[in-house]
Amino acid sequence: MLFHERLPERKPMSPEGRTKIQRVSRRENMLETDIRYLKGVGPARSSQLAKLDIHTVGELLLHVPAQYRDRRIITPIRNLIPGEESNISGTVVSSGLRKSRKGKSVFQVELEDSSGRIKLSFFNWKYIAGRLQPGSEVIASGKIVFFGGLSIVHPDLIFLNGKSVELPLVLPVYPLTAGITQGIMRKLVTSVIEKYVTHLSEILPFEVLNSYGFQNRAEVVRAVHFPKDPLRGEQARKVLALEELFLFQSILNRVRMNASLRPGIPIEPPPDTLGEFLEKLPYELTNAQKKAVRRITEELSRNVPMRRLLQGDVGSGKTVIAAAACALCCRAGYQVAVVAPTEVLAAQHYRTLRGMLEPMGIKCDLLTGGTTGSQRKFVSESLEDGSLDVLIGTHAVLEDTVVIPGLGLCIIDEQHKFGVEQREKLLAGRRPCPHLLIMSATPIPRTLAMTVYGDLDITLIDEMPPGRGRIHTCVMSRDRRSEVYSALVKRLELGEKAYIVYPLREASVELDLRDATTSFQVLRDGPLGKYNVGLLTGAMKASEKLGVTRRFASGEISVLVSTTVIEVGLDVPEATVMIVVNAERFGLSQLHQLRGRIGRGKKDSWCFLMKGSQCGIESAQRLSVLASTDNGFRIAEKDLELRGPGDVIGTKQHGIPFFRIASLINDADLIEKASELASGNGSGKPLLQEYRWRFGNLDLPGI
Ligand code: ADP
Ligand code: MG
Repeated sequence: MLFHERLPERKPMSPEGRTKIQRVSRRENMLETDIRYLKGVGPARSSQLAKLDIHTVGELLLHVPAQYRDRRIITPIRNLIPGEESNISGTVVSSGLRKSRKGKSVFQVELEDSSGRIKLSFFNWKYIAGRLQPGSEVIASGKIVFFGGLSIVHPDLIFLNGKSVELPLVLPVYPLTAGITQGIMRKLVTSVIEKYVTHLSEILPFEVLNSYGFQNRAEVVRAVHFPKDPLRGEQARKVLALEELFLFQSILNRVRMNASLRPGIPIEPPPDTLGEFLEKLPYELTNAQKKAVRRITEELSRNVPMRRLLQGDVGSGKTVIAAAACALCCRAGYQVAVVAPTEVLAAQHYRTLRGMLEPMGIKCDLLTGGTTGSQRKFVSESLEDGSLDVLIGTHAVLEDTVVIPGLGLCIIDEQHKFGVEQREKLLAGRRPCPHLLIMSATPIPRTLAMTVYGDLDITLIDEMPPGRGRIHTCVMSRDRRSEVYSALVKRLELGEKAYIVYPLREASVELDLRDATTSFQVLRDGPLGKYNVGLLTGAMKASEKLGVTRRFASGEISVLVSTTVIEVGLDVPEATVMIVVNAERFGLSQLHQLRGRIGRGKKDSWCFLMKGSQCGIESAQRLSVLASTDNGFRIAEKDLELRGPGDVIGTKQHGIPFFRIASLINDADLIEKASELASGNGSGKPLLQEYRWRFGNLDLPGI
């Protein structure tokens, strides 16, 4: 079972998929008033607005324009360019009804300025026709099309006749959905501003607002919708983005502060513990590993629960650091829970940790979904009587039924799919509060880390163990398959091992699975007939998966055909070849993780990224990033730029909050600023309330 399937239900966070319980108007927060109760919005319109993730009046207030139309810039008709959004100022010279080709009647107007003429067309003309008579002077704005002559369909109009112009010259252009026009949206926003803008409570400190040239929040919201010029509008958007990030960072701070107030468990092992552990290792720790171990030792000894993220690229050697922490904790008389995302990884950790810890007399055991009743009972009993020190397993380890009386440390591996609220749920109920060590191999850019891991301290392992072979990465087209397979056979002849990986598209899992299974049979019966080929798919039973990976690790199987990208932590140093089929279907960070399965030994390794027949030029260029660098951070940054944060961290339960205004890519500077502001600022009640209605789907116990 995939790890995230075990997590408690959580509402999807994407704007499209997000559902919300309808909110009823409550006196204490007018902004939470259901949008249905706004004038001009009924059930039909409110379900349209829901598609834009607008359910309340407050959310409509924060529906910021994507851009502005600046009608102060007038283009002479002669200079218009089809395809561009432009404004024309002219006089109507003729008007009248025509029939369109589909038989609908269209109201058409010819507008003239000193340089030429253009046609304006209106399908909903009833209200317009009377005002657009020869002689009327207007500013018309819209996209210029060329259809037997220049024209604009449904332009925005400003009537210039006689009276001075009071209409805004700068118009907001909103993200829309079917059934809602710019005009409707502008009206709705205008009425929501009139009625509710005064209910906004202040979020950002006044100095910050002032530094952007605003007096209060209401002014910012007005300016984002109806600015006097587009620059001012963008300025207001920035302030609102900053505010949103500030709100989120403040709550993370609060989580972090609350956590530090809980009574912790000072871990004080005999002084020679670490020395003994290191002495028994077959290698010396790298400097980065040493630094991390020192830091963790120091933190474990404190009375404050540790909340640390150990971030290191694939293969940087995080497991041994976890083992050191286990040794310290157990020698001090406490127990440790180690959680891995899958049964396969849990079993591997069990083998590795046991190998390092049992020589010190520290007892380890394994508990997964597949553990039998009698073994479960045995584990429970040995936890209870203290004879078991380290319990390794899947998420099952953290279930309430598993009582770990002396739990001093909880280690979670490859845990990037865990959001802040899951971390809190895990720890908030336990007193005294155990230390938490999270290991992640996703080297995400700093600003993203601040958002996703803002409640944790981060230790970076920025150095690889020495003596590793090089990884050669080649992007290959399908017609070079035979070359790739002969390279593969050459390595297999030398007794080395290989992975062949197939992607799984969520949309067609079954098809893909059939693909991989068929290829497996073809390879096994054909070109790789001489070698033992194994198949590993997510659909297999846990016991079968374990069997296959064990045989791969022991050398019984030399080629592992796999469909799953879940087994990111597999550590089989003899594997030197990886072939990724249809590589363009993976994200860069994902491919980097996959590639981390090879190059773990002293020998050189080869990673072949096979382009599918559908792979376009852009995708091929994207793949070439991998061939040019093995720096996980650089790859993640590129991925962030190309595909967005969800793909960098993993698509599903990635723990990225839903930001309505801020962009984690374009507003990176604001993230830093928000975090600075938040750290100097307590998070009082107004912030909490605002946080709840804006990030309501994040449920943090204890705040
Ligand atoms: P990851 O950080 O991806 O979890 P692992 O902990 O699985 O990496 O370590 C990768 C490999 O490197 C393992 O085979 C491990 O034994 C080896 N290793 C770890 N630290 C060192 C070191 N300091 N020197 C040599 N090899 C090491
Ligand atoms: Mg690992």
